[in-house]
Amino acid sequence: MEDYKARIRELREILEYNSKLYYDMDAPTMSDYEYDHLLRELEDLEAAHPEEVTPDSPTQHVGGTASNSFAPVQHEVPLESLQDVFNADEVGEFHNRVREQLVNVEYSVEPKVDGLSVAIEYRDGRFVRGATRGDGRTGEDVTENIRTIQNLPMVLPDKLPHLIVRGEVYMAKTTFAALNAEREITGEPLFANPRNAAAGSLRQQDPKIAAQRKLDVVIFNLQLADGKTFEKHTDTLDYMKSQGFPTIPYLRTGDLDMVNAEIVRLNEDRAELPYDMDGAVIKLNDLSDREVLGSTSKVPRWAIAYKYPPEQKPSKLVDIVVQVGRTGVLTPKAVVEPVRLAGTTVTNATLHNQDFITEKDIRIGDTVIVQKAGEIIPEIVRVDLSKRPDGVKPYHLPDRCPVCGAKVERDEDGVAMRCTGAECPAQLLRYLEHFTSREAMDIDGVGPAVLRQMVEAGLVQTAADLYKLTVQDIAQLDRMGMKSAQNAVHAIEQSKRNDVSRLICGLGIRQIGAKAARTLAQHFGSFDALERATIEELTAIDDIGEITARFLRDWLDSPQSQDLMRRFRAAGVNMECLDKPTDDTFQGMTFVLTGALTRFTRDEATEMIQSRGGKASGSVSKKTTYVVAGEAAGSKLAKAQELGIPVLTEDEFLAMLGGGAGSDKLETDGQMSML
Ligand SMILES: [Zn+2]
Repeated sequence: MEDYKARIRELREILEYNSKLYYDMDAPTMSDYEYDHLLRELEDLEAAHPEEVTPDSPTQHVGGTASNSFAPVQHEVPLESLQDVFNADEVGEFHNRVREQLVNVEYSVEPKVDGLSVAIEYRDGRFVRGATRGDGRTGEDVTENIRTIQNLPMVLPDKLPHLIVRGEVYMAKTTFAALNAEREITGEPLFANPRNAAAGSLRQQDPKIAAQRKLDVVIFNLQLADGKTFEKHTDTLDYMKSQGFPTIPYLRTGDLDMVNAEIVRLNEDRAELPYDMDGAVIKLNDLSDREVLGSTSKVPRWAIAYKYPPEQKPSKLVDIVVQVGRTGVLTPKAVVEPVRLAGTTVTNATLHNQDFITEKDIRIGDTVIVQKAGEIIPEIVRVDLSKRPDGVKPYHLPDRCPVCGAKVERDEDGVAMRCTGAECPAQLLRYLEHFTSREAMDIDGVGPAVLRQMVEAGLVQTAADLYKLTVQDIAQLDRMGMKSAQNAVHAIEQSKRNDVSRLICGLGIRQIGAKAARTLAQHFGSFDALERATIEELTAIDDIGEITARFLRDWLDSPQSQDLMRRFRAAGVNMECLDKPTDDTFQGMTFVLTGALTRFTRDEATEMIQSRGGKASGSVSKKTTYVVAGEAAGSKLAKAQELGIPVLTEDEFLAMLGGGAGSDKLETDGQMSML
């Protein structure tokens, strides 16, 4: 009876973890189908046990199905933008312009939240729609993503027929820091600032991601309220607050000095706000005054936005530390002497990658100008070359992994530097997830959540350690009963008998996926034979290119890999190809089928070739042995003739099938086709 509780917790963890993998890391470990399936299971369990439903359950913040594009929304009340000012003089000019038309002036001063402006609409007290600002007149319908916002009320106490509020969607600084910390660990590109992160989240096609990212909103304007009248802007804020909206804090004053003092104070206190702000908004508080002043063609005359300059300060670059992410990517980080910036103490700054360091010629010992952009991740703007000490050297990322000592390689198509260690502890969890996945060793019962616990408990240091786990080892983990532990051990044990192609795939060698692993297993027949393969032998195989062969050979040659394979062998993991062809008539040959075949279907021909140890390929290359051409063969035939590759008719191909295990079947096939 307590089982359902554990299952609910497990499902939540799996679902959250996987949507993260899927949406943030581009590394899905489960199909949409499976995801939906587990989500349904969780929904059913929660329906049966309503007391278990929590607001943060994955079932609660999924607002609907993903759409392919956002529908346009015409804003009933335009979402205007404000004129920016950058100093106290410009604030004074604004004040003077206002005073030309008004005698008694009252302002509200509010923080300008650095997020995404949205219009949120309610009918009869219920949330019905949310839209981005867009160009101010037409935005995008992001209703389902807005629905996932944690602090936005869905139902209001007053059931006004129609209410529209305007707010700024943001990612709280703490949420942002946690998200980026995680991305740093996983080796993903960091979000530059909370605004980018919030924007990316709000415009996700799938509301599940927006829900994952934990967005918040702060409301700063009442756009429309059917059946209500207000005199002051601050009255509308108070009203919205009474309706449960998280509203912007404000100061009311008619005094220009107070306005300026508030601008300064907000800047000093900005570190304490949950959101980023990039300025202060000064508005006329009396709503009828706003009508007197009106708007220009672009901006209202009754408000301005004071923009704070990004704060920059010099500091000394003490060191560069290199972290290894979960995908093996090396990320350099600058350690600087502590410096106060935008209300926080900064001790390190992002360096992104080697190219960034090289481009700015950043060296340890330099005096660097540090800036807090987006208030969270400090960055290095430039080096103050006038202060460069003698003898400092250009910085290069290490060519060995700082965690495991394995060789580091630059991604062939990017700037990232990656550790190639097969047993690198920094990459262990990712390896294990891949190793146990369906396309690799297909081990049921050890999902990502369980693997993470195993790693954290120190039970596994390499994938081979999975084979040493006992039922007791696994049963001691959180949320694992004796039964699940037995199942897991059984599944692990079973996987020892997998075809070696699954093992090869599970090793996570770059560019060796399930398909290449199968090709290699069938070509070499065993891991031992694969281990001895030369680059030439590898590249001679169709589908194995120069780069893949090099990655593979490097992997096989690394001491870490050899150690790992030794452990797999000791554990009794199968190293043989189990679905080797029994007839080797076509061993080492590659066929390309082209044109309209009349004697057999393409699938039949492919099977005839494969059952004799040959390969059927889709394109003609120098590696092609024969082209089998049916009627109306086109470009492939031409290519074959150009390369001087022998071309067979269907009859000639059938004639080659004499003898061997598959011949009976094939003759039958041939005869049947002729009938
Ligand atoms: Zn490493």
